[in-house]
Amino acid sequence: MTRVSGASIRRLLGDTFAAWSDASRGDLRPAGHGPDDGAALGRLALELSRETGGSVERVAWMTQMHGSDVRAVSWESSPDGHVGAPAMWHLGEGDAVTSGTPGVALCVLTADCGALALASPEGFFGAVHAGWRGLRDGVVEAAVERLRGWGATDVVGSLGPCIHPGCYEFAEGDLDSVADVYGGQVRGRTTEGRPALDVPAAIAVALARAGGRMVTGVDSCTACGGASFSHRARADTGRQALVVWTSGPDAGPAAGPDPVA
Ligand SMILES: [Zn+2]
Repeated sequence: MTRVSGASIRRLLGDTFAAWSDASRGDLRPAGHGPDDGAALGRLALELSRETGGSVERVAWMTQMHGSDVRAVSWESSPDGHVGAPAMWHLGEGDAVTSGTPGVALCVLTADCGALALASPEGFFGAVHAGWRGLRDGVVEAAVERLRGWGATDVVGSLGPCIHPGCYEFAEGDLDSVADVYGGQVRGRTTEGRPALDVPAAIAVALARAGGRMVTGVDSCTACGGASFSHRARADTGRQALVVWTSGPDAGPAAGPDPVA
């Protein structure tokens, strides 16, 4: 698939796309919650959408809480744009965001956690921030459930760079709490042979349990892959972004049961 500078694009389904930035694109976390904060993330979303035949005008992002709250956005609930630049749209707290609206890019920001893109053939799509606590609390399943509630049939997921088990030593008690939910396949080993959490495996199990299926993403480790910010490995304060958008038609009633301001 194609890429723009500092980000790899994947086609998820039909006209719905996802892209994950790397550290060369810089820290993409907006400095504040206003429409004028986050210009770097807005520029990336605009470049990505133009590369794929669309035009993003709203960039939705959240204050991520490592929880399982899912937000939903529609054009009607979105703020006014700026001429020539997408409007940044802070949704408040949440760890997944879903929509069916062309022109709106959904973003999550990470430095080791899973960044999972979702799409359905009906044109619904989502972006999920899946760290170990959110995973354990069911954020992936909750996001898929939201798309299904709108009428999504097939749901595909695509995972970007995140920390891999070789670099993710994990306390036994916390590891047990994730394995209690998703089974023994989430137990990995570090390169030194210590207990580790396998975040990609846990996300794959969560998606499968929700009835979704994984498609090709970007399979690299944020800690040792050399291209990403990593909180665990380097205490990086920068964040890479997952951006999900569609250049297809409006999928319909994505305001759903949870329209947001
Ligand atoms: Zn690694």
